Amino acid sequence: MSQAQRIDLHLHTTHSDGSLSPRAVLELAQKAGVIALAITDHDITTALPEATLAGAELGIEVIPGVEISSRFGDAELHILGYCFDWQDPTLTKRLAQLRESRHTRNPQIVRKLNALGYELSYDDVLRLAGTESVGRPHIARLLVDKGYVTSAKEAFDRFLANGKPAYVPRELPDPSTAIQWIRDAGGVPVLAHPTWAPVSGAELSHLCRELKAVGLGGIEALYSTHKPKQTGEFLALAKALDLLPTGGSDFHGAAKPDIDVGVGRGDLKVPTKLLDPLRAAAGRGH
Ligand code: AMP
Ligand code: ZN
Ligand code: FE
Ligand code: FE
Repeated sequence: MSQAQRIDLHLHTTHSDGSLSPRAVLELAQKAGVIALAITDHDITTALPEATLAGAELGIEVIPGVEISSRFGDAELHILGYCFDWQDPTLTKRLAQLRESRHTRNPQIVRKLNALGYELSYDDVLRLAGTESVGRPHIARLLVDKGYVTSAKEAFDRFLANGKPAYVPRELPDPSTAIQWIRDAGGVPVLAHPTWAPVSGAELSHLCRELKAVGLGGIEALYSTHKPKQTGEFLALAKALDLLPTGGSDFHGAAKPDIDVGVGRGDLKVPTKLLDPLRAAAGRGH
């Protein structure tokens, strides 16, 4: 309870591939001294009503959030969206279509695993997931439950990660399309975990400049796995390009057991002062 005030703008719940309910995440957030947060489930915003209700009880502000995967060559860029109208019918329809691409891909992954000799069905995956936003971490969890691997990480490293034998790419929008979807709903699009991008240094700077030209509003400079030097670089990049710095843990619960709400691996602290500029940028377009 003596934790200094902070925010966490990147959290997953059972509405996508996190292992805890929105309320359980909010309870952990309160213990960590988080005064405002965004649930950023993949391709879905259905956690918001429960999160908002729990936030009202626990004294935590909940701002609308989402995380959209986009296609960047052979890699993915994840675009976070904040402060949008989460009931916007166009966005709701677009996210539903995006979730459909999961249901096209996932059974193909299961078939590849079957061909490798592992017995599991997509019905098992759907039952375990219990949400419409079904992802590879759910398949990883099933592989753990069945005793085929000892951790979700092992499932990714051996089977599910890009380039591994059960990897199947998913049909995804371009980064500029994902950015436009967030803008169309009045929100602020932010490049998630920039160290996951397949480019760095001057190339990353160039990419961010291009994305800013099509509406990018921020960059996730503070993130659980960033080393202090990387945080410094991304803060400088945000400043140089006039992008808003944001930050969050990318908490998933059991899928990433080393990451905690609000504090990441222990040394994450996203300052509360980052929130007002984000709110002010919403609805402004670009
Ligand atoms: P999906 O959206 O179904 O393609 O699954 C992607 C999600 O899986 C990411 O957002 C991460 O949460 C998780 N993930 C991706 N790569 C890995 C990895 N190598 N190890 C563990 N989790 C991963
Ligand atoms: Zn995830
Ligand atoms: Fe992500
Ligand atoms: Fe995430």
